[in-house]
This record gives sequence, structure tokens and C-alpha cells, in this order.
Amino acid sequence: MKKITIAIDGFSSTGKSTLAKQLANHLGYVYVDTGAMYRAVALYAMQNGYIGSDFFDKDSLIKSLPLIKLQFKYNADLGYAEMYLNDVNVETVIRTIEVSGFVSKVAEVSEVRAKLVEQQQEMGKDKGIVMDGRDICTVVFPDAELKIFMTASAATRAQRRYDELVEKGDAVTYEEVLKNVEDRDYIDTHRDDSPLVIADDAIEIDNSHLSRKEQFEVVLELINELTKTL
Ligand code: C5P
Repeated sequence: MKKITIAIDGFSSTGKSTLAKQLANHLGYVYVDTGAMYRAVALYAMQNGYIGSDFFDKDSLIKSLPLIKLQFKYNADLGYAEMYLNDVNVETVIRTIEVSGFVSKVAEVSEVRAKLVEQQQEMGKDKGIVMDGRDICTVVFPDAELKIFMTASAATRAQRRYDELVEKGDAVTYEEVLKNVEDRDYIDTHRDDSPLVIADDAIEIDNSHLSRKEQFEVVLELINELTKTL
């Protein structure tokens, strides 16, 4: 079957990565979680004292960009690739609420976006890739054969993220998670560079009332229909 590019955008905690991993495993495609890349840059900014609750030294972060090495390394036990920042596995730490609190501010910086978009386009140049994020359908792969935009209510998304964090043992409240989800939605949709918008040719899926299995089947059907015409 001819390999295609599958681009998935959407709001935070809409289950984009769950769907993307299912599709990649099923199709034998590479999966790239671009949110992990922005999270790793945010972690770097935190570790180096460039960002905090009341300051953000963008210039120092921009100057340090050549020193930031991002890699995905496949973990066969987990069945997906984990994020490495300068050779350190940061897959778990980038998912904390602290990193979530800063990541959207870091993702507003055009120089950060330019660096990450270039890497993402390089990873997808041979197709056979499922990539999720906020600007994949519009900026990274505007010519992707399949574009999906995922959405669900903020309350549904916050509950899902809260359950995940609690299961991992993070001490968070539902209100804190809801606020983070809403704040990120706001910044992601209002930034000047590559705001989150639904691409004209994207298929919108509201999964508030869909199980993971149902959602996977809906998208698989779309892929089957599409690849028949290629
Ligand atoms: O997907 P995830 O929620 O992990 O992404 C974290 C944050 O990274 C988003 O809220 C957004 O600010 C930023 N992001 C982005 N562009 C992408 C992927 C993520 O701006 N392609």
C-alpha cells in the first residue's frame, strides 16, 4: 500500500497521541509527538533559569537553541519512541503540570518553532508518518494526504488529563488541570506564529463521546477509503 502522511492537530488532551500511536502501530508508520519536542525545549528553558512564573528571558533561549539536541528513541517495550533532550531521557518529566504550565509560552517563540518545524519536516520527508500537534496540517505538512482535527469539550479533556496525572502519582487538582488546559487553548489559538486553526481540508472529529476503539475505527475507515483512490 502506498505510504501517506497523516497529520493530526487539535486542542490539548484530545487524545491525539493515543490515536496517532494506534494508527502508527497498525500501519507500521513512524509516530512523532511534536508536543514532546516543545515540552523538551520548555524543560530546557526551565532548567537553565530562562523561564519562571514571572519572567521569560526569550533572548537567552533563542541564543541557546543550537545547544538543544532533541531525539526520539524507540522503546520496544513501550511500543513508541521516547523524547531525549541532550541525550537524557525526559519522556516522563516533560509531562508534568510544571512543564505544561510553561510550554505554550515557549511555543510562541518563532525561532523555536522554525527549528522544530524544520526537524519535523525532515522526519516526514519519506512519508509513512503520523504526526500530531497544533500546526501539522497547516504549516508542517500542508500537503498531507490525510488531515484530522480533534476536539472535545474542555471539561472532558481536563478530566482525562487529570486521571492520567493522578494515575502517575502527580499531586494535582482537577481545577488546576482545567485551568492549564484552558490557558493553553487560549495561547495556542491566539499566538501570532502558526496559531492552532482547523485547516480547510481537515476532517474534524469530536471525540467527547467516542471510545478509543471507536475513534480508531472511524479514522481507519477514512484511511482505507483514501488509499483506494491513490
Ligand atoms: O500536544 P501537547 O499538549 O503535549 O503540546 C504541548 C504544547 O506544545 C501545546 O499546548 C502547544 O503550546 C505546543 N505545541 C505547539 N505546536 C505543536 C505541538 C505542540 O505549539 N505542533
